[in-house]
Amino acid sequence: MAKYKLEYLWLDGYKPVPNLRGKTLIKEYDNFPTLDQLPNWGFDGSSTKQAEGRSSDCVLKPVSVYFDSTRKNGVLVMCEVMMPDGVTPHVTNARATILDDPGAWFGFEQEYFFYKNGRPLGFPESGYPAPQGPYYTGVGYRNVGDIARQIVEEHLDICLDAGINHEGINAEVAKGQWEFQIFGKGSKKAADEMWVARYILQRLCEKYAIDVEYHCKPLGDTDWNGSGMHANFSTTFLRETGGKEYFEALMAAFDAAKAEHIAVYGPDNHMRLTGLHETQSIDKFSYGLADRGASIRMPHSFVKNGYKGYLEDRRPNSQGDPYQIASVILKTIESVPTV
Ligand code: ADP
Ligand code: MN
Ligand code: MN
Ligand code: MN
Ligand code: MN
Repeated sequence: MAKYKLEYLWLDGYKPVPNLRGKTLIKEYDNFPTLDQLPNWGFDGSSTKQAEGRSSDCVLKPVSVYFDSTRKNGVLVMCEVMMPDGVTPHVTNARATILDDPGAWFGFEQEYFFYKNGRPLGFPESGYPAPQGPYYTGVGYRNVGDIARQIVEEHLDICLDAGINHEGINAEVAKGQWEFQIFGKGSKKAADEMWVARYILQRLCEKYAIDVEYHCKPLGDTDWNGSGMHANFSTTFLRETGGKEYFEALMAAFDAAKAEHIAVYGPDNHMRLTGLHETQSIDKFSYGLADRGASIRMPHSFVKNGYKGYLEDRRPNSQGDPYQIASVILKTIESVPTV
């Protein structure tokens, strides 16, 4: 028997994007607990914009569990927020709106900035560092500074220990900007892991007195790149059958649902989707082969294989909620007949 520290994580009711919250429950188990051994728990929803003070109890329902290598007997427990009855999803529970589909695969590319004292890490106290160019996938103190890579590597190891399916990491175009990619099979897996990876990154940065800036254009209208969270997706039908006709019908549905998608693709996206810096402008929808200026990019492999494989929606931004993003993408896909 050992006393485990169960860190229950959930998303609060802040708009337009939720924040991560977490609190610890101590419980005794013979072995590392499995999902079905974790009880529902509760919290004060009046402190998280999820309830009124008079009846403030919200329920935490565990949905996935991860090893926490940073803490003795540590466990990370991702939760959905439920109503007091324990079965009705709370209105802020976007995960519950994702269509259940084991054949749906998502890969998210999370870009973000490290911030120190209100400026990107590595920026001088006033003015700007040398213009972007050498920073993307760069090496050397001049390009990546002295501490960023240490944090990035530590984050990667904690995530891999947790069982999170990272596919890669890279230094990004702006100084102080980085990316990691997470891939998951099943409609909710990559989104769960993205939220837990964000949690791990933010918690890790506490000890360095550094913040993670997820805003999509923290440097405003300058020549510094913004941050996205490209959503790569596929379904069993897209991977195994696909075809030009189906693809074109799918893209017509994406075009028609443009506003619904943009509404959940992250705040202030008009600052980032300008038609410049490898983006399409926010009020247009387009797709193209290997086209990083399109809303949706078809990889070469997709066209070569007869319009089969995965697609990249380049519009979601770094601050977007992967639950809401996966939800709307699957809803639009579902609206297109496959025969
Ligand atoms: P780029 O920066 O060129 O867009 P990345 O390698 O950063 O490419 O991201 C591409 C991502 O696509 C991978 O990390 C992976 O998660 C995702 N991906 C690959 N194959 C599939 C697939 N069949 N379905 C969904 N996502 C996929
Ligand atoms: Mn208390
Ligand atoms: Mn990438
Ligand atoms: Mn990138
Ligand atoms: Mn990409």
